[in-house]
Amino acid sequence: MNRWLDRLSELGTLEPRYTAQRCLRERQTVDGCDLCAQACPHEAVILGPLGNSVQIDPDRCTGCGLCVQACPSGALEYDLTGPLTSVQGQRGGPGQPETEASLTCSQSGAGGPSLTCLGRVTPALLSAAGAWDVPLTLIHGDCAACPVGAPDVPQRLHRVLSDAERLREATGRPAQVEVRAARPEDQARAQRFSRRGALGQLVSSGRRELVGLIPESPLPFVDWSEPAERTPQEWRWRKASLSPSPAPIAPVYWPAPLVDEKCMDCPVCSNVCPTEAITRTHDAAGTLHLTLDLSACTGCMACVDSCPPQAMHRQDIWRAAALDAPLLLFEKVRP
Ligand code: SF4
Ligand code: SF4
Repeated sequence: MNRWLDRLSELGTLEPRYTAQRCLRERQTVDGCDLCAQACPHEAVILGPLGNSVQIDPDRCTGCGLCVQACPSGALEYDLTGPLTSVQGQRGGPGQPETEASLTCSQSGAGGPSLTCLGRVTPALLSAAGAWDVPLTLIHGDCAACPVGAPDVPQRLHRVLSDAERLREATGRPAQVEVRAARPEDQARAQRFSRRGALGQLVSSGRRELVGLIPESPLPFVDWSEPAERTPQEWRWRKASLSPSPAPIAPVYWPAPLVDEKCMDCPVCSNVCPTEAITRTHDAAGTLHLTLDLSACTGCMACVDSCPPQAMHRQDIWRAAALDAPLLLFEKVRP
């Protein structure tokens, strides 16, 4: 039984998947990036040389997800399938009364479907709850004293919620999300949700919260030869969660670059892009075409920050139709 409990513990402390090709350090962007190391409360992120830019120390990593939340390019990821399935599964089925969904922190004692830490919550998850019309309550514990996450998890959650709300503006259906601390009455939820039977009784009180932990599995290796896989799951779900579908001309919040006439046809933007969202081609006449796959753009702004003549600029709002077909960002006839 102890081994089994240890395995449960492991499920809650899996390190995130790292995809080097998407890391802005590997892509050698101007000024690099160390946002994951800054975000980690446990000094578990080790920044190394090219080819090994980011390593996670498994002995220090608690699986809180704060590095994933901070990574602008999707180089660090957890599988979203478990939390998404849990939120979707909690809504009332056909003919059943509408229900609310909740995701609780494993340390909160509130019970119900729980994540290791609410640092794992992402904009795509909250936007999907909005798409499914599921009111979602996020219940955190005593973050100030928590050994798993960080004291400012609630503030970070509100920033994630703000991103999700901006994304959902295009659909006209806001996400209904409440963020709050666990209350004494939430103990009853633990009873309601916890699995019945011998396991529930054998789990010691210190580990009781693990019973409701949403199961997860490590993400498989990214197959870089598959263009669809180059886009991180988070951004694929952000697009999929745009439901009800916005009209093609509806404005959508999706930060991405624009290019102006200062472009001097260098390869920097396409080289630094972590998802190959920008492609640079020349036709037979030598005309440059800079094309953007907006749905693959994570908004990391590595291209904007690295562009030598500063010809690239951030634009936050695009037409919804721009997510469905490649956009010609810039064209320049070779003199
Ligand atoms: S935050 Fe992401 S892109 Fe930046 S160094 Fe870490 S893994 Fe690389
Ligand atoms: S197009 Fe620019 S902002 Fe978008 S993912 Fe690529 S480098 Fe980042």
